[in-house]
Amino acid sequence: MRKIVVLTGAGISAESGISTFRDSGGLWETHRIEDVATPQAWDKDPALVLEFYNQRRKKLLEVEPNPAHYALARLDDHFDLTVITQNVDDLHERGGSKKVLHLHGELKKSRSTADPDLVYEIQGWELNLGDTCEKGSQLRPHIVWFGEAVPNIMPAANLCSQADILLVIGTSLAVYPAAGLIDYVPHSSPKYLIDPNARPMPWIPNLTVIPEKAGSSVPGIVDMLLKET
Ligand code: NAD
Repeated sequence: MRKIVVLTGAGISAESGISTFRDSGGLWETHRIEDVATPQAWDKDPALVLEFYNQRRKKLLEVEPNPAHYALARLDDHFDLTVITQNVDDLHERGGSKKVLHLHGELKKSRSTADPDLVYEIQGWELNLGDTCEKGSQLRPHIVWFGEAVPNIMPAANLCSQADILLVIGTSLAVYPAAGLIDYVPHSSPKYLIDPNARPMPWIPNLTVIPEKAGSSVPGIVDMLLKET
């Protein structure tokens, strides 16, 4: 089976109603990164950090996957496909994708501040001060904050180095190390970049840029790939 890697960012979830970070109207216009998404913010004001993620989680419970998420799941039976996502939402899973690697954590999970291996599903949308792990330590969002290591980056790089086809969808390719994953994909493998604001990247071999929204273009690209099988 040919291997497809799909690298996704906030843009694939935009048409589901989840704000991206950097577009106009995006989350960083209303919140400063350093106030809500860094270890320093957690040390300074954990209640504010928890509230920021509580609001994101509440919103996530109200939205649904869009045609792009559902279309990707149609590839699963025909390709060895892994979605590597920078998103912390669960819309790929709810859209039916079987193998999803989250680079930046998962909004619907919490983690012990004392033992990073203790990870829990959050019931409902709230995580509060006083919510503790089984060892009695405060729980934090299971999110990779800016300035923290990205534990899944090596498995992601390995997957990219074996990809026969790469789809990159809805990412500004501004956040490293995720943005560097494209460099691991073999030069000979076709690559598609789907993002309405995508700019030409002539230094990336075999890249086709599709400057369109994910919801309207990904189903057609999936049809094209299925015809090739
Ligand atoms: P980003 O905000 O930097 O970039 C979003 C990209 O999506 C932009 O290039 C934009 O042009 C594109 N886009 C907007 N609407 C689109 C559409 N309808 N179809 C396709 N593309 C569209 O996001 P990023 O590159 O993912 O990096 C930022 C970080 O933000 C990531 O680490 C991620 O964890 C986090 N984030 C996640 C979510 C989520 O889980 N849904 C939401 C916001 C931010």
